[in-house]
Amino acid sequence: MLATILVGMLCAHLLCFTVMFLLFSKRLHGKKMGMDLFALGNFLLGLAYVLQLAEGRPAWSLMSVVNHTLTLAAPIAYWLGAMRFFGQAVPLWRPLMAFALAYVGAQVLVQWGLGPVARHAMLSGMSALLFLVMTLTVIYGVRTFAKDLHREMFLFALLIGGICILNAIKFVKIVTGGLDALQMDSSFQLMFYIYMSSLATVLPPSIIWLVLRRLTDDLRDMAARDPMTRLLNRRGLDDALQQHFNARNAAPAYLLLLDVDHFKRINDSHGHQAGDTVLCHVAQVLRATVRRGDLTGRIGGEEFVAICLDTDEAGILRLAERLRAALEDQAIEVAGCDQALRITATIGISAQFTSAQALENAMQQADAALYRGKAGGRNRIESAQAAPAACTPQTQTPVAQPVETGA
Ligand code: GH3
Ligand code: MG
Ligand code: MG
Repeated sequence: MLATILVGMLCAHLLCFTVMFLLFSKRLHGKKMGMDLFALGNFLLGLAYVLQLAEGRPAWSLMSVVNHTLTLAAPIAYWLGAMRFFGQAVPLWRPLMAFALAYVGAQVLVQWGLGPVARHAMLSGMSALLFLVMTLTVIYGVRTFAKDLHREMFLFALLIGGICILNAIKFVKIVTGGLDALQMDSSFQLMFYIYMSSLATVLPPSIIWLVLRRLTDDLRDMAARDPMTRLLNRRGLDDALQQHFNARNAAPAYLLLLDVDHFKRINDSHGHQAGDTVLCHVAQVLRATVRRGDLTGRIGGEEFVAICLDTDEAGILRLAERLRAALEDQAIEVAGCDQALRITATIGISAQFTSAQALENAMQQADAALYRGKAGGRNRIESAQAAPAACTPQTQTPVAQPVETGA
């Protein structure tokens, strides 16, 4: 009787959370993060337990064959859902249907050749195997695609590993004790149902929590980054800098402000799309030139910044020159343009600063230096600290035309 109540509760949990997963997946439109497959997994497992309640004792019937197949299809749906949550594109229906058909065939063969004990042992053995695969996938995920969720993933691995162990024990019990091991009111079966019921209550809210965490991370990222270049925007720079200076013994920073020369001409001559390609190229060069840990951002149309941490005046001047030279040297292939484009940029550098609150001031210093650079002929570097003449790069000719070359 107790077992029947437990299995009934298990069904209720599984089916209720099916609805919850479905509602979530409907709200998530394009990027469902596996919610629809978790709903399917819960539904299949819930249905399997409903059939078990309806069936009562183990028997050879169509209902039992369907029950066993659903019991194993559920972890496969969960596994595929987990893959989708981690951004892997995995197919659903073909592997699921192929498995279901193969398993129905296997049941008929095993029942016919080895009898009912073997068929039930096969179910427990396969369940143990599938949950072992899930546990290993989660452990693998901690080291690869789910590095940011390692605590949560270890907990999941532990809980899913529990199902694997219980099914392995059940397999041994069936092999050694026959179908009596499946008595619903036996102490082992009660423990099994209590464990499954607890998991059916704990796991779905945990999955929802993970999804919410992913969503809020995405939102934070969207608020902090420029959508076109994926560089930090002004707000993202403020936050990242705050984090840097919150650390004890944080190194001072320099701000480097870069403005593409005569960028408007590129838009006017080649179109806005070409302008966007150039902006993405500048972002790419900026990213590749700064050191790991430095901050890069886009704060306006064709204005970029790098905040360089842990360096000195000579270091920041070297970096600025590398950047200027890289932009000048590299031809930019633009779709729809016969010839590659070339650009130059002018760079202004702030004085050293040591707090996030000083960012605004550093920005003004770099802007004033940049203005001097533009007035001095463009394609040059000006620093707020050094005398303007001392900071100009080797190339002093104003070559800021978006010259087309045959590159
Ligand atoms: P200077 O050398 O003095 O910096 O001249 P400039 O032409 O680069 O500067 P100006 O401020 O006159 O023009 C900047 C142009 O950048 C104007 C605007 O249409 C364009 N712009 C701003 N945002 C974007 C964008 O996201 N994409 C594209 N393609 N163009 C943009
Ligand atoms: Mg500008
Ligand atoms: Mg410009």
